[in-house]
Amino acid sequence: MTKELEVIETLIIGSGPAGYTAAIYAARADMKPVVIQGLQPGGQLTTTTDVENYPGYKDGITGPEMMEDFKAQAERFGTDTRWGMVTKVDFSKRPFKIEIDESKNVLAETVIIATGASAKWLGIEDEKRLNGYGVSACATCDGFFYKGKEVVVVGGGDTAAEEATYLAKLCTKVTLLVRKDKMRASKAMQHRVFNTDNLEVLFNHETKSINGDPKKSGVESVTAINNLNNEEKNINAQGFFVAIGHKPNTDLFKGQLDMDENGYLKIEAGTSKTKIPGVFAAGDVADHVYRQAVTSAGTGCMAALDAERFLASNI
Ligand code: NDP
Repeated sequence: MTKELEVIETLIIGSGPAGYTAAIYAARADMKPVVIQGLQPGGQLTTTTDVENYPGYKDGITGPEMMEDFKAQAERFGTDTRWGMVTKVDFSKRPFKIEIDESKNVLAETVIIATGASAKWLGIEDEKRLNGYGVSACATCDGFFYKGKEVVVVGGGDTAAEEATYLAKLCTKVTLLVRKDKMRASKAMQHRVFNTDNLEVLFNHETKSINGDPKKSGVESVTAINNLNNEEKNINAQGFFVAIGHKPNTDLFKGQLDMDENGYLKIEAGTSKTKIPGVFAAGDVADHVYRQAVTSAGTGCMAALDAERFLASNI
């Protein structure tokens, strides 16, 4: 006799601001949400230090504490939060078959994908050593802490151009390290970069080391190396921003959902609907532009409301 699979009314994949906001709304609407937390419970915010731009926390809060609050609020209304990774999905028919930890299968009437995106890092040891102590991958989140200071930004695309010009408004000096002899950013963004007085672009430069002590004042300088002549340059900097792109966590959905050329999920404009009825997406996984906790939370709310309407008319 085959064992009956558990049927979950609302399965939420991911536990960042989008996932937990979807859970809060879904739980309050009696949609019995189950959150599968994923590899990094709490999402990207658990790797940041202070969050000062999330409305409601007037004195700021740390990223990990904020995500504990999100979780507690979702659980207060009955959300079932589970450890584990979703390892396979089958969206070919409803209820959808979902494999967890390569071992257990469940069925889901509706699925909200909130798997987020991960910042790409250079992969050098100093980056890990000083992460949260001057090293960051988000200027909008952390730029404020470098007001009146000098920073280095790495990257040559639109993200780097945007982050460097944003930081130039706050910092006394921004040095942008571009590994090629040209930037990949759009012409309009490059124009902004080259017309910002306190922003210096060093082409053909890569990061050799980020110098400083996490137990003292954090990042103090950056040693860059010219990849044409191997000349080294020591740059005074209290902040080091990696802006070499993000990777949406969508490998799991390849072949089943539509994605753009960078792997972000495509959704119907103004909604959270993917092309599969009953499957919704929220947060960074479907947004390469805003990528903020508050916008993720907003789209998490949209996904829960879309799922509620779907369940009401289909089950
Ligand atoms: P991109 O992939 O476009 O650019 C990444 C940049 O980082 C490239 O210049 C690349 O260099 C550089 N890079 C990659 N790895 C390293 C490394 N190890 N060391 C040094 N440099 C490295 O990513 P973006 O995040 O900039 O943009 C992603 C997408 O999002 C794009 O389509 C972009 O247009 C879009 N976007 C749009 C915005 C807007 O419209 N406002 C804002 C931000 C992004 P190289 O060129 O040598 O490969």
